[in-house]
This record gives sequence, C-alpha cells and structure tokens, in this order.
Amino acid sequence: MAVHVVGNVGLDTTFRLARFPKPGETLNASGVGVALGGKGANQALAALRAGAEVTLWSAVGSDAEAAVVRRGLLDAGLCDRGLLVLPLPTDRSAVLVDADGENQIASAVACALAFDPVSSRWFERAQGGDVLVLQGNLTPNATRAALRTGRALGLRTILNASPLGTHADMLDGMPHVVVVNRVEGETLTGEHAPDRMVEALCGRISGAAVVTLGAEGFVFAEGPDERPRSRAAHAARAVDTSGAGDVFCGTLAARLSLGHGFEPALRLAGWAAAIAVTRAGTFGCGPDRGEFQTWYE
Ligand code: ATP
Repeated sequence: MAVHVVGNVGLDTTFRLARFPKPGETLNASGVGVALGGKGANQALAALRAGAEVTLWSAVGSDAEAAVVRRGLLDAGLCDRGLLVLPLPTDRSAVLVDADGENQIASAVACALAFDPVSSRWFERAQGGDVLVLQGNLTPNATRAALRTGRALGLRTILNASPLGTHADMLDGMPHVVVVNRVEGETLTGEHAPDRMVEALCGRISGAAVVTLGAEGFVFAEGPDERPRSRAAHAARAVDTSGAGDVFCGTLAARLSLGHGFEPALRLAGWAAAIAVTRAGTFGCGPDRGEFQTWYE
C-alpha cells in the first residue's frame, strides 16, 4: 500500500551566523546554503527511505525556483507527478542559524496557502488501505477536506498538526492518527501532562494520538479506551533537532503502509528521528534506505 503526502514544498536558504542581527543591523554570514524544505517534502522523503511507495501532492510556482524544487525531488528519488504549478512564487524561507544552533525563520508561502489538493486530484490515485499524511502548512479548510476525503475513500489518515498556528480546528477532519509535539499538544488540549494530552486527543478524534517529547521520547495510545504508554528516545548526540518530527511522521506513515503494527512502527519512527538529530538540515536528515535495511530489515 502507498503513502500519499499532501503538503508543502519549498526552498530554504540558510545563513550561518555567529549571532542574530539586531533590528537595523547587517551581519555577514560565515556560510550559506540552499536546500529543499517544507514539511510535506521532508515527510515524503522520510517515508520513501523507510521503504514506502510515496507520492508528494503539493504546489510550486511558475518561476525558476520551481525547477530547482522539481529537480531536488527527483534527485532524492521522489516522483514529481503530484506537483501542481500555480501562477505564484514558489514557497521560500530564509533561515538564520546562530552559533548555538538556534534559528530564526521568515517564510513566503503563497503556494501552500493557495494549494487546493482537490485540483491535484490526488484522490484518483489513492486506493483503500493507502496512508494519507497531512501537516499544518496548508489552509485548515484544505487540510480538513483532504482528511475527510481520505477517510471516505478508506485510507488511513495521519495528521501531524504542525505548525499549529491558530488552526486547532484541523482536528475536525477526524484523522485516524494525530501526531503533535509537546507544545502543540498543550495548545490543543490545555493539558500539561503528556498522558493527559494523549487521552484528550484520542477522545477528540476517536482515534490514535502520539505526543512527541524531543529527547524524552514520546507518549501514545491507539484509541480512547487505551491507557497512554511512554517510550524513551534512542540515545543520540544531537547537533540539529529540526526535522526530527518530520522524520518521525514520515517513518510512521511508511511502516503503517507496509502493514506494520502501530507500536513497532512508532519504535522505528523513534529510531529514525534519533538519527535525524545527529545530522544537520531537514530534507533527508533521517536514515537512508541502506541504513533502514542494515538495521531493521
Ligand atoms: P522538530 O524539531 O522537527 O520540529 P518536533 O518538535 O516536531 O521536532 P520532537 O518532539 O522534538 O518533535 O521530536 C520528535 C521525535 O524525535 C521524538 O519523539 C524523539 O523520538 C526524537 N528525538 C527528538 N530529539 C531527540 C534527541 N535529542 N535524542 C533522541 N531522539 C530525539
């Protein structure tokens, strides 16, 4: 069974600085790099590397950056059949990273906000039993509509409700599985204890919930009648934690699409995310196909 990731893709330009500039100040960067970004693309690549057949359904603009995005997806082994071209600038982010690894990000996301997944007709390629994955970068309307369509088609639907912004009503799309980090879990439920967050989220969607806790691992339950269970994170020497959540979600989706049980899929997701924090960047920061095969297959 396949994984359909409906989400965003763009280009990230990252500037490495000794410190962040003050308002009105210009600083020279010690390094600069351009890489593919967007939670949709990150999760699609993570799912591909975890062994799934994957399509990323997304939108790019009609500019030179779109060609760079398309090339980057193909070079990574993803297909470009799900890319819709819109008369807009391709989504871009400027990422400042200081010497402590902290970041500041400014994004222009016209394509993500204009993307109506219905026009990409992703659902015509989906079959009952496939896995549908969404994040929080599209509009809440688009996200909810795609989740409902996926459910009606008999797909297993996963919502990584991140970024959450003010869009808590994404959950009204009633995904089968919701994955959030601690901050998002608190915002969505008003609870402070991860167990309580999981219980509240399971109750809200009548499904499974996972709250990720960074270096502390994650808490999950497969449904409202189950007691939440905790799993520790794998030991890792973290150099860049950005992208860990995307590797976690992409790996989870892949393993569910391959018929694995929820808990074994989560354990593998935790392993893959721990590897991701040891590597810089987001797109492709998780284990590659060979590492999965060496360690887990
Ligand atoms: P992101 O930084 O990508 O936004 P997130 O906030 O969505 O991440 P986290 O809770 O930080 O998600 O991390 C997701 C998962 O990655 C965790 O549940 C854990 O399994 C793994 N992880 C994150 N940080 C570490 C770490 N320092 N060591 C080992 N595993 C980690």
